[in-house]
Amino acid sequence: MSPASTDLLAPFPRIRLIEGATPVARLTQLTREIPYAGDVNLFVKRDDLMALGGGGNKLRKLEFLLGAAIAEGTDTVVTIGGLQSNHARLTAAAAARVGLQCEIILGRQVPKTNEEYEYGGNVFLNQLFGARVEVAEPGIAPLERARERVAELKQSGRRPYLVPTGGSTETGALGYVSCLHEILQQQQALSITFDHIVVANGSSGTHAGLAAGLCSAGKSTRIVQAFSTLFDDDTTRQKTAALTEATLAVLGHKVAVPADDILVDGSQRGAGYGIATAEMKTAVLALARSEGILLDPVYSGKAFAGMLSCIKTGTFKAGANVLFIMTGGTPSLYAYRDAFE
Ligand SMILES: *Cc1c(COP(=O)(O)O)cnc(C)c1O
Repeated sequence: MSPASTDLLAPFPRIRLIEGATPVARLTQLTREIPYAGDVNLFVKRDDLMALGGGGNKLRKLEFLLGAAIAEGTDTVVTIGGLQSNHARLTAAAAARVGLQCEIILGRQVPKTNEEYEYGGNVFLNQLFGARVEVAEPGIAPLERARERVAELKQSGRRPYLVPTGGSTETGALGYVSCLHEILQQQQALSITFDHIVVANGSSGTHAGLAAGLCSAGKSTRIVQAFSTLFDDDTTRQKTAALTEATLAVLGHKVAVPADDILVDGSQRGAGYGIATAEMKTAVLALARSEGILLDPVYSGKAFAGMLSCIKTGTFKAGANVLFIMTGGTPSLYAYRDAFE
């Protein structure tokens, strides 16, 4: 970590869940499947490569969220998500590692009811990690049920800590402030400058953390190009700008972040959150068959498809240095076998 980021993040309680920097690698074989991908210099940051719980972007947020929870004397972490939530699975794994109890309230957000979606992938892994899993009754928002559950736990003498959707609070976003500083160091080591950093945006904590990191390093937030997967582009832009501002505020920077400085493209969401698109499938297959790397169907597959479109249309200029953040999510692929049949 650079001295700057050490100083910046030093005041915040943190537990270590990730061993060192995740690799940045050049994609060398993708042009066999997608020839025009060679128009830019394409790199991937492998935030899917982490030893704990299958890895993924949520571990970076959980370093700070569980750090705060433990500092408060918590014994039970409660969180929420969709049925195939990667965030829920990684919260369960991280809680197991640090000896906290974990309770997960899942909601049926995606119109999929096949057996693999209901019981396989992340749902299965939550059980293996020892979390107590509850599926919210139809018509009841998981957050509402989670708040109720927190009250029940308090009443029985436990000390619960509630982590909202995707861990996307200003505390969670600090994980991606840290990641941005890691990227700045890595681009220095590679003697290049990334013109674009591409990422999926769901609950916005990852994008907001990167944007806050850029801002605190005196760089433009417009380096990050995100693709929204949960909300429409306008909602996502507003939420991300607000969270970026809040994250900068906890870092001691009182600056306004206009929504126009947050680049969110809504063209890849398709019919809705968690619903497969043809472009996502093309991207997943192309990367699997050329590089042997797995994207996920809900987030990184859609973002990768969006990045390919930016290269094809020239939105990303020929010769640009482009860094794609692989945010993880491989276990959810198992719940989407039907989408690839
Ligand atoms: C949660 C998630 C994202 C989106 O991150 P947010 O911080 O919620 O925007 C992207 N990719 C994967 C695999 C995820 O699980």
